Amino acid sequence: MATDGSGTQDRVEDEARQVVAFVEEMTGLRSRWNGTVRVVDAATAALLSPVPFLAKKEWGCGITLLETTTGDGRWRSLLHEAFHSVSVGLTQESYNQFAPWEEAIVESLQRLYRPALLRSLSVDADESRIAASEAAWRFNRAVDALGRIAAERPEVPAREFLEQMLRTPLPDRPALAFEWGRQGASFDRFKRVYAATSGLLR
Ligand SMILES: [Zn+2]
Repeated sequence: MATDGSGTQDRVEDEARQVVAFVEEMTGLRSRWNGTVRVVDAATAALLSPVPFLAKKEWGCGITLLETTTGDGRWRSLLHEAFHSVSVGLTQESYNQFAPWEEAIVESLQRLYRPALLRSLSVDADESRIAASEAAWRFNRAVDALGRIAAERPEVPAREFLEQMLRTPLPDRPALAFEWGRQGASFDRFKRVYAATSGLLR
């Protein structure tokens, strides 16, 4: 249900199209997004999901956005959802089992690419507000854990690691990250970090 007429909805759909095009170009992956964004109020959002959200990609492949997310924070939400929409092997079943491996990768890419996205769309957004909404995000522990795993091979740009993970079917990502570590300079050290952090990705 749109809460403030179709104007906001049309505008956000148009923005989502630009964000999805940006993500497709950056990753070379094709989006499954169906072209619609549903803007809902808090009561409708509570009916849709037991877990509070600012935005979510529906299994039917539309995007649902909480009406209060239509300020500057929408850019991070749209970019995050756009990365979900190209993520390989993302099904409800694989998500239920490996959600942190999906969320940490998508969110890390969102944070990495957002400045370039905003520049390319000539958007002057309030970064401090956007960062504030990130500080309370429920998968931050998984984001930190993934960052520590990626940092074990400093010779590989974070972007390259994250995109390789995004292109790998979700259920195969934990094993791939482990194999990726084997190619680094110190696999013994990597194994210790992986053991200490991968529990945070469960
Ligand atoms: Zn997400």
